[in-house]
Amino acid sequence: MNKKSVKDVEVRGKRVLVRVDFNVPLNEQGQITNDKRIQASLPTILYLIREGARVILASHLGRPKGQVNPKYSLAPVAKHLSEQLAQAVSFAKDCIGDTAMEAVSTLQDGEVLLLENVRFHAEEEKNDPTFAKELAGLAELFVNDAFGTAHRAHASTEGVTHYIPAVCGLLMQKEVDFMGNALERPERPFVAIIGGAKVSDKIGVIENLLEKVDALIIGGGMANTFLKAQGFNVGKSFLEEEKVELAKQLIEKAKAKGIELELPIDVVAALAFQADATHRTVKVSEIGEDEMALDIGSASAEKFEARISTAKTVIWNGPMGVFEMEAFAKGTERVAQAVATCGGITIVGGGDSVAAVEKMKAADRMTHISTGGGASLEFLEGKVLPGVAALQDKE
Ligand code: ADP
Ligand code: MG
Repeated sequence: MNKKSVKDVEVRGKRVLVRVDFNVPLNEQGQITNDKRIQASLPTILYLIREGARVILASHLGRPKGQVNPKYSLAPVAKHLSEQLAQAVSFAKDCIGDTAMEAVSTLQDGEVLLLENVRFHAEEEKNDPTFAKELAGLAELFVNDAFGTAHRAHASTEGVTHYIPAVCGLLMQKEVDFMGNALERPERPFVAIIGGAKVSDKIGVIENLLEKVDALIIGGGMANTFLKAQGFNVGKSFLEEEKVELAKQLIEKAKAKGIELELPIDVVAALAFQADATHRTVKVSEIGEDEMALDIGSASAEKFEARISTAKTVIWNGPMGVFEMEAFAKGTERVAQAVATCGGITIVGGGDSVAAVEKMKAADRMTHISTGGGASLEFLEGKVLPGVAALQDKE
């Protein structure tokens, strides 16, 4: 990446404000149910500790809407992080003001402080300059390691960069490098797999990828709109009628560019959107009026597997079916296995896709699992992420 990283600057003895993504799921008792976002931020934190920086961590958690709400306190995260680091992590009950200032003033080299949820202040999401300046005032250097919020220009992701030097963290660098290299310098064949619920969520992604890939595989709910565009009847399947015309154009565009566009040739059609619904596998030309396609069929899976097996680069975003229900998870599972074993560079992004891959125990066999849902989508759309753009360029 052309941005300076934490390794390109002197950090020893400096107060370093690190924006991390500690937006972890908590249960009713306030316990962390999945700490992978904390794990993902450890390399940067450990690096800073080792280099003798004074580490000040800032994050959001949930949507407290600018109000102090104990339900969204980061205090449990401080405790968890301290266990992970095997060293004390102090906690400041506010991210700005005297509380934060005092906590920072006692920090020694190699020590770690976590600030309370930045979204307890409405100014955070408004990217309010006074608030951003106060946050920045705590430190001499800013490190953005929160890829998951890099697509938002908030005070703690973009605002602060106007007041102190700003560089990227190691996770941010990894995310941007993996996806950036795949998009800009892919080893070919480059195959993208797009699925999930709606075409409308991913039009930008499909359009951008059509400029770059050798083959585009489309599955999931969005495939129905493409099937309709091909003239098939999709019964009661989820369909975006107003996007059928666009789907036709995308099919034409792929053809004109010589890109293989792979659509399902059969589907698992069910009588209801229910885990135990009566279902059968049918050709896309034979979906009944009262049926809905909830997964790709086995012939489609076989066709997709064959295409994926030859790929040197794969980007995957969006499940092939309603994988949350076992009866409709097979297509996603087969694609996950095919991606995991293809031998190329494999990148999975999107909240549900990542959840599916983890559920199917294929995550460890992927080259890169993106930690940012919305951010990875915007990246795949070719958009500049404001949290990244604001960082210092390499000289
Ligand atoms: P991601 O979070 O990976 O970007 P999306 O949010 O776009 O993925 O889509 C995931 C959702 O799409 C899942 O909840 C899944 O159940 C749903 N889905 C997939 N295929 C279908 C289908 N054929 N009909 C209805 N919903 C579907
Ligand atoms: Mg999703």
